[in-house]
Amino acid sequence: MLKMNGTNNFIRIDQAVAWRLCMGCGACKYACANEAITLIDIPERGIRPNVDSSKCQRCGNCLGVCPGIELSHQPFNSKTIPELLASWGPVLEVWEGYAADPKIRFEASSGGAATALALFCLEKENFSGVLHIGTKAKAPLQNVPVFSKTREELLACTGSRYSPAAPCAKLNCIQEAKSSCVFIGKPCDVAALSQHIPAVGIAYSKKFYGVFESVGVGYCVVDARNTDIKRVFEIIESAYSQRVDIQMHLQKRIPSIAKTALSIFNELK
Ligand SMILES: Cc1cc2nc3c(=O)[nH]c(=O)nc-3n(C[C@H](O)[C@H](O)[C@H](O)COP(=O)(O)OP(=O)(O)OC[C@H]3O[C@@H](n4cnc5c(N)ncnc54)[C@H](O)[C@@H]3O)c2cc1C
Ligand code: SF4
Ligand code: SF4
Repeated sequence: MLKMNGTNNFIRIDQAVAWRLCMGCGACKYACANEAITLIDIPERGIRPNVDSSKCQRCGNCLGVCPGIELSHQPFNSKTIPELLASWGPVLEVWEGYAADPKIRFEASSGGAATALALFCLEKENFSGVLHIGTKAKAPLQNVPVFSKTREELLACTGSRYSPAAPCAKLNCIQEAKSSCVFIGKPCDVAALSQHIPAVGIAYSKKFYGVFESVGVGYCVVDARNTDIKRVFEIIESAYSQRVDIQMHLQKRIPSIAKTALSIFNELK
């Protein structure tokens, strides 16, 4: 059986592939400053990283962001919906909605809420762009990460594409942007985004705040129960403007906190 403390001994990202832990999010490529990683679309397996040994400095940055190697979520609590727990994990609330714009609704996968919310951020909140997935020109069966800045670009990528896609490979677009951005991805892609990468948490409990505060970034949490929309965007803007400092802070703090948490879990086993 796979044990987390076994995977912690990984020294190269291709070990995640060998252990079949990779789901092709592309975050490792983004994390490698030495350009040692190439993403290869292998038809029978999906998008997987390939490491050029001559360029790899064994810095471990790619391992630090990989959601296949390590992934955690908050412990279950009494506010989760009990009927959904077994199949879906700790779901707090389920909302239903769709885009009011008929064109978006028609083009979209399941009502267009994702596109409509992203468009609102682009047009009304001056976000720089939306990092998501589109079709590769000249190879329409393949996907590419796209950074959309206009309504037209956004709508061209609306709808779900049920084939390998690595939106995290282009996280540099968000890092280099002049203001906040939207990221649309599958749960594994979003998990990669949260590994050492500055994020703002929209919370419905004090426990969420506790998780952020345990690594010293409690100020990046929005309490959705009592914060108005203006303040939400202020907190996002503030976290965005401090993103380089926050990332450096997280890279220092998370490894020691994760080690402590793991040793506590190991004692409980
Ligand atoms: C691979 C995959 C599997 C899914 N499986 C299920 C499922 O089993 N059950 C379920 O209820 N829902 C599933 N979904 C979610 C569902 O298809 C819709 O994406 C979701 O409901 C949002 O609908 P929407 O109309 O708001 O999105 P839209 O407004 O149509 O926007 C969709 C967004 O997703 C992005 N996107 C498209 N393909 C991908 C991709 N492969 N990876 C990352 N981003 C992508 C697009 O760029 C676009 O921005 C899946 C989605 C994907 C991509
Ligand atoms: S260990 Fe460092 S240099 Fe090597 S592939 Fe990973 S991020 Fe790149
Ligand atoms: S970071 Fe993503 S693409 Fe890279 S090995 Fe991990 S899961 Fe695969």
